Amino acid sequence: MYNKWKNTVYILHALTEKYSEKKQLPPSQIHQDILLRSMKLLEDTEPEAADLIRPMIKVMLPYTVLPDDKDDRENGAGRHYYCACNTDGRPFSPVGGYFRNGKDLFARSARTMFEEDYTMALTMYHAGFTGQSAAYLGRAVHMMSDMCCLPHAVKWTYFSKKRGLHISYEELARAMYPEFVPEQTISYEHLRRFAMRSSFTTALNAGAQKAAMEIPEVLSSPEAEIKKRLYDTEQAVAALLYRFYRDTKVTPLRGHYAADGMVCHPFADMPALDIKITERGITFELAGLSVNSRLGSVFRAAHRRGGKFSLTPVGCNSGLVLSRSSRKLVPFDPRDEKQLYGII
Ligand SMILES: [Zn+2]
Repeated sequence: MYNKWKNTVYILHALTEKYSEKKQLPPSQIHQDILLRSMKLLEDTEPEAADLIRPMIKVMLPYTVLPDDKDDRENGAGRHYYCACNTDGRPFSPVGGYFRNGKDLFARSARTMFEEDYTMALTMYHAGFTGQSAAYLGRAVHMMSDMCCLPHAVKWTYFSKKRGLHISYEELARAMYPEFVPEQTISYEHLRRFAMRSSFTTALNAGAQKAAMEIPEVLSSPEAEIKKRLYDTEQAVAALLYRFYRDTKVTPLRGHYAADGMVCHPFADMPALDIKITERGITFELAGLSVNSRLGSVFRAAHRRGGKFSLTPVGCNSGLVLSRSSRKLVPFDPRDEKQLYGII
């Protein structure tokens, strides 16, 4: 019996073979190629922003690949997904502003990890830990690229019926890119994709929904669709780098990051605490002494919306966060205000 999905897998394989035969460039990492091409777009559009990012690129490059390593702290089945629809393209509604990952959970998802990586990249940058900042920014670029990749926005996980499609789609993308996808040009408007500071919600959800709408194009004209996705990914990464540049110039309250001398109230049984940024992460102090709570002593913050952050101990990699309504860590839920903390 004719099956349009199986037939598409067959077509994607055939196209991959065609491009692989023509390919002259040595094999490379697609996440790294995306960063390099996005950097070029930034150089052409806002050279001053590119000047700030350029010294970070060398450290960033391996970190754009690392999250796919099975031993990496950000790796895990279904996690690098931000699903705007189910596997057939039926749209989901966001809940509390968030879509779920490939396992129907809010966290960890490509989005929740992106927000944490981005917040920490800024926090480390302003604290003077530029190596750490570049590492986090490289991870943020990975998560952004995954969110722009169609299989990752439409729930085609490795444990779904669409596993074969996911694999053959990305094989073709790797065969085509960068060699057979000509360089694009962008305008300043493209760089403003993440200009809204209060939250990434609107831009990220629109991006995932746009990718999800392209499922029919994968079936009808896969090469054109893949090219379109790759261009969109480059634009998103260039806009992210530009946003980072802008956020290095603003105060913590405006850029939504943590800095020495700020105050937070993370533990119900203690007063508000002073923030001290170390190379390992965010720590808290009371009257000059560092606080070691039962739940951890070093934390990562993720800005979610309107100056509110969720907090996770370094070492906890399962999507749990602090909550004012529990003495234990709880699964991240964007509807729960008790999980969001001000850092002022
Ligand atoms: Zn990934």
